[in-house]
Amino acid sequence: MGKIVVIDEDECTGCESCVELCPEVFEFDSDAEKAIVIKPEGGDEECIEEAMDSCPVECIFWKDG
Ligand code: SF4
Repeated sequence: MGKIVVIDEDECTGCESCVELCPEVFEFDSDAEKAIVIKPEGGDEECIEEAMDSCPVECIFWKDG
């Protein structure tokens, strides 16, 4: 059991900050105008943490996978 990255899409404002910081894990969904997680199992944890810290609405979370 690992942890996975999730975005609360209801809260996401589509600012793209996480996408810029960590494009391996987050992608911008231009239809929904929100960010989505393309690599839920993570990757570079440091950049994920950075993305979490930079998210203006703090809607990126770790969840037990
Ligand atoms: S940083 Fe937060 S609000 Fe901005 S696109 Fe990513 S998840 Fe959405």
